[in-house]
Amino acid sequence: MTVTDLPKAPSNLPHAHHDIDEHDDVHVLYSHDHEPVGEVGNNVKLLTLIAVVVPPVVLAVAIWYAWGGYFSWTDLTMMIVGYFMTSMGITIGYHRLYTHKSFEASAPVAWAAGICGSMAVQGPLLWWVTTHRRHHLHSDDIEDPHSPHAGRQKGISGWIRSFAHSHVGWLFSNDDIASSVKKYAPDVAADPRARAISKLFPLWVLMGFIVPAVIGGLVDGGWKGAFLGFIWGGVIRMFLVHHATWSINSVCHIWGSRTYRSGDHSRNNPIMGILAMGEGWHNNHHAFPASARHGLQWWQFDLSWITIRSLAAVGLVKRIRLPGAERMAAKRIGRAVA
Ligand SMILES: [Zn+2]
Ligand SMILES: [Zn+2]
Repeated sequence: MTVTDLPKAPSNLPHAHHDIDEHDDVHVLYSHDHEPVGEVGNNVKLLTLIAVVVPPVVLAVAIWYAWGGYFSWTDLTMMIVGYFMTSMGITIGYHRLYTHKSFEASAPVAWAAGICGSMAVQGPLLWWVTTHRRHHLHSDDIEDPHSPHAGRQKGISGWIRSFAHSHVGWLFSNDDIASSVKKYAPDVAADPRARAISKLFPLWVLMGFIVPAVIGGLVDGGWKGAFLGFIWGGVIRMFLVHHATWSINSVCHIWGSRTYRSGDHSRNNPIMGILAMGEGWHNNHHAFPASARHGLQWWQFDLSWITIRSLAAVGLVKRIRLPGAERMAAKRIGRAVA
């Protein structure tokens, strides 16, 4: 495994956002201007609404029926395995590899991580990268796609509305972030593999539902097994991963501790650290966005980092980026800025 310190920023880059600072951390292709954006189509909004509203209803009904015997160990196993696979597709693939380029992956890893991430049903790869880079550049200011703080109105109702916006409401905003791909993610858009994964998004989503249905049908037998496999390994698995990821945007900008200066409200939240495969160490991440490791302390459990390290040990991943001890010390809250 090759571990490299973060490279120094070239001096001719435009200045990045407040003290997320250090251009090498935020991807260098950002710029400040907010380009005009188009409207999101009604069909996309309708599909998003279905993906948000239907799964919790399905979960409630499925739990009710599970009492009556409509549930098997196969379903539980598929839900858990599916949760880990698609969750880490997002954290290792969509997030740390494609968005932040925090390591280099061999072709099989890059494909698998991108496809597993797509199965989490959080939008095509290019859209996700664009949205997330915009979040880092504008974290908790008015152009952040999902801040629980920016534009918050007074009182408890203002607070609830802002939380709901950061958790899920932002998905229905009229900002067509896809039209900003050229601005925020031209490097990823130029990568044929990323483009192919992104384009075939509907296929990967479909696979995420069909595979557990087929396994359920084969193992538990017949249409009942297939249907329950689809529900538990597909719909409910998707619901759980959605809320784990969305909680990074909402919960992890509100509750938790702050170790490093990051210029925003990002927090380290141990519960989300575990549930979201290491992404809950979100203050660490905003302080050092290009770091492949989010749980920077030995006790900060980061399953995505453990997996990246294991892949590196067998040669499937290389050039891992980590912040140096000096930079970490310099950004610690309570330390004077050099
Ligand atoms: Zn954040
Ligand atoms: Zn990030």
